[in-house]
Amino acid sequence: MDELVPSAKGRVVDDWRELFPSRPVDAPSYALDLVGPLIAHDERDCLFARHDLRPDSDRYQTYYARHPERQALDDELRSLPGLGGGEGPAVKALGDAIFASALLLGSEESVQGLPPAGGAGQRVQLPPEEAAAKVKGLAHLLGADLIGIGPLNPAFVYTHVGRTFYPEQRWGAPIVLDHPYAINLGIRMNVGGLMRTAPQYPVLLESANAYARGALIAVQVATYLRRLGYSARAHHLRNYQVLSVPVAVDGGLGELARCGFLVTREYGNCLRLATVTTDLPLATDAPVDLGVQHFCERCQVCAKECPAGAIPNGPKVEVHRLRKWALDAERCYRYWLETGSDCALCIVACPWSHWALGSRPEETEAPPAGSHLRPARRPNWLR
Ligand code: SF4
Ligand code: SF4
Repeated sequence: MDELVPSAKGRVVDDWRELFPSRPVDAPSYALDLVGPLIAHDERDCLFARHDLRPDSDRYQTYYARHPERQALDDELRSLPGLGGGEGPAVKALGDAIFASALLLGSEESVQGLPPAGGAGQRVQLPPEEAAAKVKGLAHLLGADLIGIGPLNPAFVYTHVGRTFYPEQRWGAPIVLDHPYAINLGIRMNVGGLMRTAPQYPVLLESANAYARGALIAVQVATYLRRLGYSARAHHLRNYQVLSVPVAVDGGLGELARCGFLVTREYGNCLRLATVTTDLPLATDAPVDLGVQHFCERCQVCAKECPAGAIPNGPKVEVHRLRKWALDAERCYRYWLETGSDCALCIVACPWSHWALGSRPEETEAPPAGSHLRPARRPNWLR
């Protein structure tokens, strides 16, 4: 890997992150890749929302009348075993139980509260710096590993509801979210555990757990903001209105990488995200330049390791007026549905995740006796 780090030649470095200092910048690194005003995404087009469509439903007819080119592929994906499908019921239920805890936290009442009886209450007045410090302190206390506050770019708000888990949600309803601020919460996963088990089912347990923890923290932070008298909404696995990755880039958590995930200096891409949006005025964090764009340009390890060929090894391409390394989400999701787990081979292959592990040696310990965690293959570059 030394060719990626020219300044490392001839030097001994304990942690290569030394060579990639986190540099606050005026504009996020993707700003250089904009080719025009961004086009917002419709959540109905995301693969998870499409996978939810039942063939006997009106929304199935409506969606594929509009997108007939996707119907055959989506029908085929729906016929695959699915997440946990290859496991016995006692093991599959482990993942179901963790996802169910996030489901408890995703109703409209949980994520945005009920309108206060008698109208809006008194707003507690706080200087933006003090408000940001309080919010970060609370999120840290609750267990968030990374917290960054940024502006909420309306282009990163979904245009229409695509996933519905609760009776009050209406598929296809336009989304109106005018909060100017986004609080980004990074929940790290156990990178050592993922390295031992990817791409098998325990990966799903780890990511579901990170999502569930993020959901709880986001709901608690949003509730705090409403108690201060402001509007606030939690966005998490079971109720998103925003694209968490670019919003987190704007909030200074890291950069968008070749693998399609956020890469952070602290945990690589080994984390899950939740978001809180609000109208409470908050001091914001600057976006950061970690050198990820330059690094990913040459690295390509995740593209080589991806068993589905979903990560491009070529240049960035234009998607919704942004030039980016475009993950082939259909290939990736097919692999998940075939293997029954959410894979994570691109996470365990990424050098930034390995640097993160170096700072947490406890995560290299063997799994507890009797654990169902099983050894996994190692990425090529580690063999
Ligand atoms: S999760 Fe697995 S299949 Fe999906 S992009 Fe990463 S390595 Fe490829
Ligand atoms: S494995 Fe390499 S190319 Fe892929 S995201 Fe990580 S640094 Fe970028």
